[in-house]
Amino acid sequence: MKPFDSLLNANKTWAADMVNNDPEYFNRLSHLQSPEYLWIGCSDSRVPANQITGTMPGEIFVHRNVANLVVNTDVNVLSVLDYAVNHLKVKHVIVCGHYGCGGIKAAITKIDFKPVLNMWLRNIKDVYRLHRSQLDLIFDEEAKTNRLVELNVMEQVFNLAKTSIIQRAWKNEQRPDLHGWVYGLKDGIIKPVYDMKAGTNLDDLYEYDDL
Ligand SMILES: [Zn+2]
Repeated sequence: MKPFDSLLNANKTWAADMVNNDPEYFNRLSHLQSPEYLWIGCSDSRVPANQITGTMPGEIFVHRNVANLVVNTDVNVLSVLDYAVNHLKVKHVIVCGHYGCGGIKAAITKIDFKPVLNMWLRNIKDVYRLHRSQLDLIFDEEAKTNRLVELNVMEQVFNLAKTSIIQRAWKNEQRPDLHGWVYGLKDGIIKPVYDMKAGTNLDDLYEYDDL
């Protein structure tokens, strides 16, 4: 871990390097952001959206929380989604989990993490219950965690598609496509695990007909 002050020193060096390479860099970015991607990822410090996708500031709009969840009562994630879809007009929404996710591991245990974390992790326990028939057959803890990581990403893609924000954009503008990815901490490789094209039909129960 860097001493606190060194973060600010490193920032000055970085900003100077950027201007050296491209004198107009900050001028340009300060006037406009038009990212094509919304990234919903885990808060884990080892999964930085820009670095692992080789993208620069301005290219990805980012929301991160513990275990990359899309919770339908979370004003934070829904505000980010609304802004990204309706104002930035992103073409793709990516939910990116990662193997070995601490939030996913914690949700499989019976440990009482006290009220706030318990509330959050409950969403992951619900994903486990939906897929209990396959997860209960995996006895290796690491393999079970990693399969739940993949299934959780898929369920969060479903959760995006259940929102009227996404359904309205699908109906009127045929975008954005939704993507579920899982990042490997051990090799740095992203594995696509689930895609949902704009306009995909959901379970009828979740579809709004007066958008
Ligand atoms: Zn994580």
